[in-house]
Amino acid sequence: MIAKPNSARRVRHARPDTLIYAIENRLYVNLTDRCTLACRFCPKHNDSKEVHNYNLTLSELPEPQKIIDLIGDPTQYEEVVFCGYGEPTLRLDALISVANAVKANGGKTRLNTDGLANLFHKKDVVPLLATCIDAISISLNAQNEYQYIEHCVPSIPHSYPAVIAFVQRAAQCIPDVTVTAIDGLKGIDISACQTIAITNGAKFKARTLDNVG
Ligand code: SF4
Repeated sequence: MIAKPNSARRVRHARPDTLIYAIENRLYVNLTDRCTLACRFCPKHNDSKEVHNYNLTLSELPEPQKIIDLIGDPTQYEEVVFCGYGEPTLRLDALISVANAVKANGGKTRLNTDGLANLFHKKDVVPLLATCIDAISISLNAQNEYQYIEHCVPSIPHSYPAVIAFVQRAAQCIPDVTVTAIDGLKGIDISACQTIAITNGAKFKARTLDNVG
């Protein structure tokens, strides 16, 4: 077997990873670039690796302490948002560590999530999130399973009902829960998505494609 040339590896590591990035007065944390969905509208599945000119691909998964050190004083930001080019709850322990540090230093936390954490981890992680997450934004993205599969291409079966169950559970434990869907996607009924959000105890926000936050 022929080993990959070292030069290829050096090129990949040529730029430092973007572990945190600021948009307006919010600080975003890029814990992972992996997720279990392959959303057709996602920039990373459309030949782009950038959000707001930040390249969010990671050469390695960052240690929580490294992120904590980079954040510094979280009170200088309106909120610290766990977002990025992947699903933060895939790295649940790292997420909890960093969020706890932000809270301990007086900051506010928000989690942008696909709502699949309970399905992925095969347990109810919402009470744990509730100890250190002030607000949560859950991507529903569709008014039914058919449209969800069309647009989000989940790799884990039963993802759509799992998102709805996660919304319900989050609304029981976390004071600020917002469900989102992207306005303008083919076949997506924003009004129906809003009804699902409100019925399950959450607020609703229609997002614009490519508008992070
Ligand atoms: S969950 Fe987010 S990062 Fe993953 S494919 Fe969908 S839009 Fe992209």
